Amino acid sequence: MNTLVAYCRPGFEHDLSDELNRLVGMSGAYGYGQPNTGSGFVAFELFGQQSAVEVLSQLDFTHLVFGRQWFAGYQFSDLPANDRITPLLQLCEGVPQCGEIFVEFPDTDSGRELATFCRKFTVPLRQALRGKGILSTKPDPDLPVLHVFMLDSSRGFVGVSQPGNHSPHYNGIQRLRFPSGAPSRSTLKLEEAIRLFLSEKQQNQWFKPGMTGVDLGACPGGWTYQLVSRGLQVQAIDNGEIDEQLMATGLVRHYAVDGFKYQPNPKPVDWLVCDMIERPDRVALLMAQWLKQGWAKRAIFNLKLPMKKRFDSYLECVKIIEDTLGGAARIDLKARHLYHDREEITLFLAMR
Ligand code: SAM
Repeated sequence: MNTLVAYCRPGFEHDLSDELNRLVGMSGAYGYGQPNTGSGFVAFELFGQQSAVEVLSQLDFTHLVFGRQWFAGYQFSDLPANDRITPLLQLCEGVPQCGEIFVEFPDTDSGRELATFCRKFTVPLRQALRGKGILSTKPDPDLPVLHVFMLDSSRGFVGVSQPGNHSPHYNGIQRLRFPSGAPSRSTLKLEEAIRLFLSEKQQNQWFKPGMTGVDLGACPGGWTYQLVSRGLQVQAIDNGEIDEQLMATGLVRHYAVDGFKYQPNPKPVDWLVCDMIERPDRVALLMAQWLKQGWAKRAIFNLKLPMKKRFDSYLECVKIIEDTLGGAARIDLKARHLYHDREEITLFLAMR
């Protein structure tokens, strides 16, 4: 297996390819990505002695910003319409035993047309793989996942991702139900970020009734809603109109002031969240300064990225944060282009 396949939001292939190039290079391996704008994935070809499985085992999926899922595998084409399974079984000879199979597709208009095909095809393929012992008889989350990533009904990639080093979600997408009381769809960004960045234990420890939060750029209140629904008292900062139902909870104080000038009261708050539409370097610096001054214990925030060179812009923001807070070793920083994000990424930041 010499191809590293990673999925992304369509339009972000070049950012993902730049990022894979850097990650793979840091592991001592080398290769090149073939980003095809709008395709929703990158196939990164590796050269040298190491297989894609070995290279992936040295990389950490949680460090990936622009990718939703990845696996090590190879490309296939010309699956005959009357028997797609036999050639796939041959391709899977030699893969380690897997505990689950995902037959997936790109998150594009043409990719989504394959959804029904993939779902139906999973059933006989799973049975055949179990018959060969390639797939465990019952789903086993401690074993690798076998991915068959279809580009159409005859072409795609097949390979494996390792437990604990991949997205556990089908297509790498965490689907969430929109909460009926939330005032904006943005609410799903913060919910996805909380579930992705924090373990269940951390969520229970760090969101408790009576804790406090500041929401910069809060209106109409989708992010404030997430904090309030976890029992936090929130200072909501924005010149706009905030949702009346949120105000009626008695847990929200709304201040129509500039988020770059606001100071929390009392200090520190348990959480700083920020969804202001502003230059990413300004927001990155502001978040780092809040933590440096001890105004907040931890933060989740968005960086609205430029249209081009998004990965470079992200790296510049990381540098600003590290320089302000005394270096990478002193901070816990996680970032991801979430499923519910558009031209932005979401970050978690805390001091170690
Ligand atoms: N997170 C909100 C939600 O879930 O409903 C949506 C926030 S919206 C994307 C961005 C908000 O940032 C706008 O309401 C805008 O008024 C606010 N904003 C932009 N610059 C700001 C600033 N300097 N200070 C305070 N709010 C600001």
